[in-house]
Amino acid sequence: MQQRYKVQCKLGYGFFSTVWLAKDISLGHFVAVKIAKPEPAFVKTALDEINLLKRVQQKQQEQGGPAYMVTLLDHFSHEADERHGGRNHMVLVFELLGPSLLTLMKQYRFHGLPVKWVQRITHQLLEALDFLHRQCGIVHTDLKPENILITVPDPAAYIQRMLIMMDDDTNFSNASSVSASSCSTALTTVDEPFSPKLDLNLVVDTVESYCPEQKCPLDDWQELDVQIRVIDLGNACRLDDKELGRHLIQTRQYRSPEVILGVDWDQTADLWSLGCLIYEMITGTFLFDPQAGPDFSKDDDHLAGMIELLRVVPRNLMQGRYSRDFFNLKKELHRVKTLKQRRLRDVLHDTYMLPAEQADGWSSMLLRMLEMDQNKRSSALSLLSHPWLSRPL
Ligand code: ADP
Ligand code: MG
Repeated sequence: MQQRYKVQCKLGYGFFSTVWLAKDISLGHFVAVKIAKPEPAFVKTALDEINLLKRVQQKQQEQGGPAYMVTLLDHFSHEADERHGGRNHMVLVFELLGPSLLTLMKQYRFHGLPVKWVQRITHQLLEALDFLHRQCGIVHTDLKPENILITVPDPAAYIQRMLIMMDDDTNFSNASSVSASSCSTALTTVDEPFSPKLDLNLVVDTVESYCPEQKCPLDDWQELDVQIRVIDLGNACRLDDKELGRHLIQTRQYRSPEVILGVDWDQTADLWSLGCLIYEMITGTFLFDPQAGPDFSKDDDHLAGMIELLRVVPRNLMQGRYSRDFFNLKKELHRVKTLKQRRLRDVLHDTYMLPAEQADGWSSMLLRMLEMDQNKRSSALSLLSHPWLSRPL
């Protein structure tokens, strides 16, 4: 078989994979190639992700309308050569997208994204979640800025510009000249030590650290209608899975109270993560970033932060598998005694200087996602008709 994908440079990485920019030689365009680690658990994760993506794609075709989930173009198993361990990696080939929301927030120096963008992104994320939950019967379980990418008119050109900003001599031609040389059936070798200059994550960081006056490469696009794609179904679950709701999900800062306390979770867990994510887009800071102390754990601190903001611990949260480890019968935390109440609206207005009307509007919407009782948390569908979403900003 002829080799088809030629790796150019690293785009990003996650817990179980590395993602590379590659050229699809047969079609002549750039793609993103996600290469899973070779351990059996990661092979299984990749196979699960492929199945879920196929389901999403089938539903998307049936339904039509705008797509908010990333498109899977191809997948195969790749045997690395002996120099690179000789083991099998699952490879997923995706449409090439632009930067993640995390990169975007970095470019805004963590002062928050323009609220107009946040409003549009929120709308699209609710559409994406409604589609995922109701049409596909899938819970994402890992919504966070790294897993939401924006589409740009020409992502390869965007990447090239990032590289050029870093170093005028660095461009695609020498990117491919250092790209891997040894070939197997479908893919050039992927573990080659690439020049760090060609690692996009590093480039972004370097632009920020060394060229603070440099024009943000996304500046020209501010007027464009920002379009998002949700990626990474690597941890997603089907709602009809018999084991649903039991295992630990979500990245720490986006983790919902029911998951911490061992109450069975469902698709509403995604709405909690979304609330945390929107707050972060508005303010540039985490809503919850718990830390362990000498006498309490990260989970203790996390629950304390939630109570400070939301006050009431609903009854169902006292019946989780781990609730007794954290709370006494009076619903008080065992290990955190001093709580400082804060109101979301006031934090947005007083700390982050949002005009009163915006602070009211955002907090009224966010509090419907940040409902401690998952049975009372709003669905993506019902949030789509929240008046704040259609408010001209
Ligand atoms: P993991 O499951 O290991 O977390 P992801 O699918 O989240 O892997 O991808 C890791 C990173 O790779 C993303 O955060 C993003 O920076 C980059 N990436 C993934 N898919 C694409 C894509 N289609 N286009 C551009 N970059 C991508
Ligand atoms: Mg990821």
